[in-house]
Amino acid sequence: MKKISILIPCHNEEQSLPLLYPELVKLMDGHAAYEWELMFVNDGSTDGTLQALRQLRRQDKRVNYVDLSRNFGKETAMLAGFDYVTGDCMVIIDADLQDPPELIPEMLQWWEQGYEDVYARRKTRGRESWLRKRLSLLFYRILQSSSRFDVLQNVGDFRLLDRRCINALKKMRESERYTKGMYCWIGFKKKEILFDRGDRVAGNSSWNFRQLFSLAIDGITSFTTVPLRVSTIVGFIVSMLAFVYMIYVFIKALIWGDPVQGYPSLVILLLFLGGIQLLSLGIIGEYIGRIYNEAKNRPDYLVREFNDENVL
Ligand code: UDP
Ligand code: MG
Repeated sequence: MKKISILIPCHNEEQSLPLLYPELVKLMDGHAAYEWELMFVNDGSTDGTLQALRQLRRQDKRVNYVDLSRNFGKETAMLAGFDYVTGDCMVIIDADLQDPPELIPEMLQWWEQGYEDVYARRKTRGRESWLRKRLSLLFYRILQSSSRFDVLQNVGDFRLLDRRCINALKKMRESERYTKGMYCWIGFKKKEILFDRGDRVAGNSSWNFRQLFSLAIDGITSFTTVPLRVSTIVGFIVSMLAFVYMIYVFIKALIWGDPVQGYPSLVILLLFLGGIQLLSLGIIGEYIGRIYNEAKNRPDYLVREFNDENVL
């Protein structure tokens, strides 16, 4: 019997769980030809999520949960899930029912036909601010134009991954994770299906603007060094222009003398060059910061409890 794991990262999802669990039970009971495993990862929730998961585990042994020692963020919570799931394939799904479980049977069909990564692309994105949509579009454009593999737009973490993909993702242990890029990087046989993304059933989105911004920076710095290249090119162009201007000033002074003018142009040049230098330093700094974080080589996450057992 093939085993299907469902991975659900949860951060303060006390209110969503009672709505999600019956949906999943319906799904599991409707497909009894498979063995099922639910893997909830409690990502440092501050509400009753852990108690709810313990309760579910008592009723239903298909429920498994990993309790992380604090909030590590969804990307890391998913990595913990990759390590703990035991299925022949795994479906990653949000706890807030924004990803419809009704799509999972279709994913399984494609998987049975040999596809290893069946991902759901959003036709619509649910309720979101105009600014967030715009910025997300800009971000994908930068990432796409600067990396050598396809980065898929409007594709989230809602997908089915074969055991091969899970093992591949488990090998990628970088600490500042951008999993959406990793799915594309690992390759394997991909299949796209379309769906409409609804709004969350309960609770609030755990992401704030700052977190999304830093996820975007992580996405760019972990998949491409193009910003470094751009700062080299800009530096090159600026110094060429500076050289031409230098010769012009020099010759002008030789022929016509120098009546000491040009305060505005001095200030402009000073500010412009200073700005470019700081920007380039910042870009280099982003990459050095990543090197620093990887060099520390800390564990990606810490587990406090796995299925009623205390993990030391
Ligand atoms: N999540 C998590 N850790 C976090 C933030 C979110 O595990 O630090 C989970 C959350 O419980 C949900 C999923 O990631 O199951 C998606 O989160 P959310 O709905 O807040 O994001 P959005 O749908 O707005 O992208
Ligand atoms: Mg959501």
